[in-house]
Formats: sequence, structure tokens, C-alpha cells
Amino acid sequence: MADVLPYTPIDEISQIHAALREEFRTNVARRYDLAWRKQQLAQLVAMVSENQEAFIAALAADLKKPAFEVLAGEIGSLIARTQRAAQLLDEWVAPERVSPPPHQQAWSPEVLKGPKGVVLIIAPWNYPLVLLLQPLSGAIAAGCPAVIKPSEIAQHHAALIGELVPKYLDPAAYRVVNGGVPEITRLLELKWDHIFYTGNSTVARIIATAAAKHLTPLTLELGGKSPVVVDAENTDLRLAAKRILWGKSTNSGQICVAPDYVLITRSAQDEFIAALKEAYQTFHPHGALESDSYGGIVSKAHYDRLQGLIARTKAQVVLGGNTDGKRVIEPTVFRDVEDNDALLEGEIFGPLLPLVPVDSMQEAIDFISARPHPLALYVFTNKPEVKKAFIQGTQSGSIAFNDVMTQVSVSELPFSGIGESGYGAQYLKYTFDGFTHHRATVDVPASSEDILAVRYPPYSRENAAK
Ligand code: NAD
Repeated sequence: MADVLPYTPIDEISQIHAALREEFRTNVARRYDLAWRKQQLAQLVAMVSENQEAFIAALAADLKKPAFEVLAGEIGSLIARTQRAAQLLDEWVAPERVSPPPHQQAWSPEVLKGPKGVVLIIAPWNYPLVLLLQPLSGAIAAGCPAVIKPSEIAQHHAALIGELVPKYLDPAAYRVVNGGVPEITRLLELKWDHIFYTGNSTVARIIATAAAKHLTPLTLELGGKSPVVVDAENTDLRLAAKRILWGKSTNSGQICVAPDYVLITRSAQDEFIAALKEAYQTFHPHGALESDSYGGIVSKAHYDRLQGLIARTKAQVVLGGNTDGKRVIEPTVFRDVEDNDALLEGEIFGPLLPLVPVDSMQEAIDFISARPHPLALYVFTNKPEVKKAFIQGTQSGSIAFNDVMTQVSVSELPFSGIGESGYGAQYLKYTFDGFTHHRATVDVPASSEDILAVRYPPYSRENAAK
């Protein structure tokens, strides 16, 4: 990777960290300078919009990501959320008044919003731009200096970030560290005031263990197997098939909230497969391998991992199954997948879609509940009782009805996992809050002495109840 991506020398990492800590400790005026934060947010927007073509080219090289997906799924959402953060910043930082009982109101109790300190942001390769810069925009809004660590697997993107960030953002507060495990290991030895990690749950455990040594708070945005349930008796199967196939094909299924597998009413499996085939024809009339609207797998290792799943599954392929032999795998659907099949072991994170027939919605609820809490759960049904049964009978980071992935396009909603899919949240104020210390304050006037008199010794039991 080092051919395209210059790694940060390990010795420099502790110097970068020390410089940011010194900046935060000594430049107290800047900690609360909202004009400066807004200017840095504007610079972040300028960096992405002025270099749009370079980002599109980098993501084409890393992921064969179609320009449309880069513009809609990365650049567009990053710019919109960063501009919104700048607009809402005054409201977010304003101290929050609380409403205590009358005798405490004279103490002016408030919640102050201050930056937690110097933070570390570690991002994955699948949406390398938005998943790196979106947390950064929250850190800027909150007034936290930050080191950002792009994924070395999306190496063209990481190299571009290494080149552009020093040109656009204030290097006294925002720095990039590029590298792999040795560089990140060095980063994790240092003390941060918050770590925001997006990626897989195995590495999350390494991050959490390192953070525990310093009692560093964390946001963990992880993945897992996000199920889709199709209640065939109460949904439009053709529409469900089109929406699910789109969700499995975008970014070649390499999305943390992509539909992982489908639990489908057993008697409707054949009809659903026919609808998937029809949707596939409309998306890629000349086949996905020839399509400009279909991306690739990020690396040979991930390509081989997915090929390994295709080789190990005992289930029958009913759609797709072809590859270009190196980078692209067609959206591939498998029928009658059984509980212990290879496709149901770990997160697929690729364009393979297992169909698991179920005899009832209760069976689907039990299937989901018996597994780790997913990041997202999708249920296609128009029946209010079925929706309620899934809301109450399962746990997941988010739950969406009658579509896939649209919940993550609503920036006002929290994007978060639960259990194995992570903790903490992001998007707009949720990201800001993650990097913000909510500091309780009171200012107790001398006139409160009448009320406070009871607390002073000598004690009397009658006064304890006052
Ligand atoms: P990745 O391999 O790029 O790793 C993520 C980061 O961890 C990188 O910056 C990498 O350098 C670092 N890393 C790798 N190995 C490490 C180690 N041994 N020690 C310390 N750091 C290390 O990306 P990935 O983990 O393959 O990303 C895919 C996963 O991320 C999937 O599970 C997906 O569901 C999840 N994801 C979650 C979200 C979300 O918002 N919840 C978004 C995207 C992806």
C-alpha cells in the first residue's frame, strides 16, 4: 500500500498528539470560539466540494465506486450535514436550563457544553470519505482538536486526505495519521479524550481494551448481520424485492446497514425470487458485470472471502453467481438457506443474499432474537400488529419498515448500534454530543442560606426530611 499511500512515520505520531494536547491546553480562547469552529466547518465543505473529481477518482480506484454513489452517498451527505452543523451550532452550544423544584431555581442550574478534549477518529474503507469526515465535522463543531485515521485499505482516498487536510484545515487542531496496524497501535498507546471508531467488532475489542487503560470514552459504530423480514401476506412482493435488491447491490453490499439475509414467508419464496430476477433485469439489463452502475469488491482478500462463502454454502444459487475473476461479483441470491449454513455465520458484507424460509412472523422474531443485536432490522409488512410485534420482540440499532437503509438518510435520527453492533451515536447533534462534555453547574446566592441552613451541624433528624 505504501506505493500509493505514504504512511506517517511512527515517531511523529506522539509528536502530533503532544502538539494537539498543547494546543487544547494553552489556546483556551479558541476552545469556545464559535466563529473559528464555523470557519473550519466551511473549510471542510470547501475541501470536499472543490476536490469532488479527485475524490470520485480515488473511490473509483479503491472500490470501483460509481460517481453517482460517491456524490449521493458520501460527498452530498457530508456537505449537507456539515453545513447543517454550522447552522445549528449556536443552538447546540447554548447552556441548557433545567426545571428543578422551586427552592433550587435560585441556584441557576444549567448544563454547560464544553469540548471533551483531543479526540481520535478511526474510519473504515467502505464509505471512506463520509465515515471519516462526518465524525470530524462533529468534533470541529464541539471544539475538539482531532487526529483522523483513514482506512489504509481505501488507499487512494487515504492518500488524498493526507494531502488535502493540511491545506484546508488548521493544522494546529486537525491532523491526519496514515498507516496500518503498527501506526494505529502507536495511536492507541496514547491518551485521548474520546475515540470514535467505525469498523468491525473484532478490531473494536482491541480499541476498547486500549481505551480502557486510559478510561477513554468511546463511540463504536460497528456492523453485524442486519436481517430483512418479508411478511409476504401483507406486503407488495415486487416492490419489496426491488428495494431489497437495491440495498444489497449498492456499494456491492459493502454497507454496514445493508440487508444481510432475508427471512421470507415459506410459501412465497418462489414468487419473491421471480420478483428479484425482474428487478435485477431493470437495474442491469446487460448484467451487473458489464454495468457502470455497479461497484466492485475493495480488495483481493475480501473477494476471496466472499468466494469462499459461495464455495462453502450448501444452498442453491437462483440469481447471479458470476464474477469477473478478480474484483466484481454479481448480486447473488441463494434459496432455502438453512440455519447452520456458512452464509449465516458472520456479516456477509458483499452482494450475496441468502433467503431463509420461515413459517410465521413469530419464527422470524425468534430467529433474530437468538442472535446478536443487529445494527439494522427491516420488516416489510403493512400490518400494524406485525410492526408492533417486531418493535417489542426484538432489539436492533434501528428498525425500518417497508424499505432498507432509508433510516440512515434521515440526519435528524441517531445512527447507532446496540450490543454487538456498537454504542454511542452519530449524525448532527448526536455526533456533537458525543464529543461534548455536559457539565453541570449551579451558582448559589447568599440568599439561599435560609434554605441551606438545615444542612449544617449540629444535625437534627427532623431537618433531614426538609
Ligand atoms: P477496516 O479494515 O478499514 O478497519 C477499520 C479501521 O480499523 C481502519 O482504520 C484500520 O486501519 C483499523 N484497524 C484494522 N486492523 C486493526 C488492528 N488490528 N488494530 C487496530 N486498528 C485496526 O474496515 P472494516 O473493519 O473491514 O470495516 C467494515 C466493518 O465496519 C463492517 O463490519 C461494517 O459493518 C462496519 N461498519 C460500520 C459502520 C457504522 O456506522 N456502524 C459503517 C461502516 C462500516
